[in-house]
Amino acid sequence: MDSCYRSWVEISLSRIAANYRSVCQAVGEGVEVLGVVKADAYGHGALQVARVLTGTGARWLAVSSVDEGVVLREGGVDARILVMGGVLPYEVEALWEYNLTPAVHSFGEIAALATFNREIRYHLKIDTGMSRLGVRSEVDRILDELAAPRSAQLEGLMTHFASAADFTSQQTETQMATFQAVCSRLSPLPRYIHTASTNAIAYARRGMQENMVRPGHALYGYVSSPRGVCGPRILEVKPALKWKARILVVKDLEEGSLIGYGGTFRAPRRMRVGVLAVGYADGYPHRLSNRGRVIAAGKPAPILGTVSMDLTTVDLSHAPHLGPGDEVTLLGEEGDAGVDAQQIARFAGTISYNVLCGIGARVRRVYVP
Ligand SMILES: *Cc1c(COP(=O)(O)O)cnc(C)c1O
Repeated sequence: MDSCYRSWVEISLSRIAANYRSVCQAVGEGVEVLGVVKADAYGHGALQVARVLTGTGARWLAVSSVDEGVVLREGGVDARILVMGGVLPYEVEALWEYNLTPAVHSFGEIAALATFNREIRYHLKIDTGMSRLGVRSEVDRILDELAAPRSAQLEGLMTHFASAADFTSQQTETQMATFQAVCSRLSPLPRYIHTASTNAIAYARRGMQENMVRPGHALYGYVSSPRGVCGPRILEVKPALKWKARILVVKDLEEGSLIGYGGTFRAPRRMRVGVLAVGYADGYPHRLSNRGRVIAAGKPAPILGTVSMDLTTVDLSHAPHLGPGDEVTLLGEEGDAGVDAQQIARFAGTISYNVLCGIGARVRRVYVP
């Protein structure tokens, strides 16, 4: 695929569809698989990913904000859309206008929705111990609030785990028990009960009544590595995104040459280096300076010196035939060599989610089947 861009990502739509199907298989029949497409589908393009997911059978999608939901609706997506990241007072009317379903995080919000006197379905999030969004109350108080007759209708009960891939901690068990204490006393249960995102799905940490799951990372091809001893992983997925950049300039440097801002790299020998058309303004982490590597001509090529705003210098001593206009792989496989978002994250001291979501707007998205 020959793209005429300085730096671009290639996103495989069939891979995203295959990952979605893998999640469906892992959770089994009768479980609704809601596709999380917040943050521009983790950098993959919300609208394109939403269309693939709905075309693969997804009846539900989730976003962070009302704004993100509006983008999907304006793009013609007609699946149900759960807004998970909170709804501000000035955004409430748009819930009706764009047929969005809020995750509600306080009793006050339920009351506020009811003042509109128009039917709306909501999912109530319980804070079972992550101390982020969700109601954190005694079970009796939750049941009382839900018993009050209102025009807003409880359609789902949800919580979110803080440490689902960590088997050295009891936090997930504690959170599950807290959630279960509400479910076991709520009758009838709402239509959807859901707690699991990627890691809880992959490591089978789900309760019996749960009939919806919320994968994000898995759809894009990633599952976090477990900490500690865990049971078998029941989900296999593959990365859907490759990131490439072109070589702008190649040059041969004398031993002792300093490379980049601050002169943080001194050539230990004669070296051939390539200057790439990508930098931290594209979301290529500055913390890869003198640490990361790209793949050039099928082999790892270390990053030399600091990553600049628009440029990154790499060692091309092993690939004398590469020249200006040739492409290298920042993320993805080339021959036997590869770098994925988790490896980049390790080099940069961050997480793979951050690497994917950080791919800048300037980087062209190219969709391949
Ligand atoms: C982002 C998010 C998810 C998806 O998490 P992944 O780890 O990417 O699968 C699920 N639920 C909530 C509430 C989220 O904020």
